[in-house]
Amino acid sequence: MSNLMSNYSPLNVTFTSGSGCWLTDTSGKKYFDALSGVGVVNLGHCHPKITQSIIEQSQELLHTSNWYRIEHQEELAVRLCKLANMDKVFFSNSGAEANEAAIKIARLFARQKNIDMPVILTAKESFHGRTMATLSATGSSKVQAGFSPLMSEFIHVNFDDVEAIKKYSDNKNIVAVMLEPIQGEAGVIIPQHDYLNQVQAICEENDWLFILDEVQSGMGRTGKLFAHQYNDLIPDVLCLAKGLGNGVPIGACLAKGIASEMLIAGTHGSTFGGNPLVCKVALSVLDVFEEDAILDNVNEMSDYINDQLKKNLEHCSVVNQIRVKGLMIAIGLDESVIDCTQLLQKALDDELLINITGNSIRILPPLVITQQEVDILIKKIIKLINA
Ligand SMILES: *Cc1c(COP(=O)(O)O)cnc(C)c1O
Repeated sequence: MSNLMSNYSPLNVTFTSGSGCWLTDTSGKKYFDALSGVGVVNLGHCHPKITQSIIEQSQELLHTSNWYRIEHQEELAVRLCKLANMDKVFFSNSGAEANEAAIKIARLFARQKNIDMPVILTAKESFHGRTMATLSATGSSKVQAGFSPLMSEFIHVNFDDVEAIKKYSDNKNIVAVMLEPIQGEAGVIIPQHDYLNQVQAICEENDWLFILDEVQSGMGRTGKLFAHQYNDLIPDVLCLAKGLGNGVPIGACLAKGIASEMLIAGTHGSTFGGNPLVCKVALSVLDVFEEDAILDNVNEMSDYINDQLKKNLEHCSVVNQIRVKGLMIAIGLDESVIDCTQLLQKALDDELLINITGNSIRILPPLVITQQEVDILIKKIIKLINA
């Protein structure tokens, strides 16, 4: 019995404290959090520098509204633009809202081009959020079920298929392509290496905006600060959230060139967006990335985890694929051999937090994971799969 709406179906466990990769429940049991609150608590639970930053900022100032200049917001914008090679930022409270801003940018871009019925190409199996616009952009009928009429401006094409996008080159209504560099909710789907480069080239040729949703793949998750940096390219629009605040709600829509000029006074806004607290915390997150060489750890632990997974699991009949990019990891399972629906509870019974998406185990451990903790994680996964 609960007074909460039934849109979530939480596992029957309540956590009261956390530290690094570990969470403690109401009975004192410790769990390995191999999901980081779904890719949010990338620096681990209650990172001391983040905690300190929250304490200090909350003693100074929490909120003023965007009717006044916000020092930390301006500073965070400078830092993010420098890191991502972008020009301007709009701050939101979530990933969906960062994507909403990107979609509004694409609409205003269409106005400028005198396109009345703009269309954005997105990928099948993609996930962009739960608002009406972002669920319409999302390529999943499960997310969309019950919410029609959807926004009609999205056409869903196969992911990792350049030709599927090229086909629309003659369509005068297309204004943008919006993609996750690696599909997260779909189960860590990693495209061929030059996919993004080829899509960007098509966008350039046709004067379409190239929008990347790095809400999940960004903020160091893949071993670079942003996943698209593996491709040595710069998108027109880049959306961030999840790991940006390590647990405080902040999202960001970054844009470059003409895309960065679209949102002018009165066209968009958010009451909470980019308030002093969340921006201070995000600045501290960026500090920790530098001071603690987080990306080095991601890459070292990624190699180690990859080796260990392959060594221990590749020969298992249940395992049909192991997908690893940085610490964005999935283990594809053969459903004819194993019942995936039981795995979440089985893992919980062994004090392990993971995600099951489709027929894959998805693992997004904190980026501060140590080699010893990887060993614990691998042992638990082997046990889970062989149970
Ligand atoms: C989680 C996620 C979102 C939605 O973010 P919210 O903060 O839940 O609105 C959007 N895009 C991607 C790729 C995500 O992983």
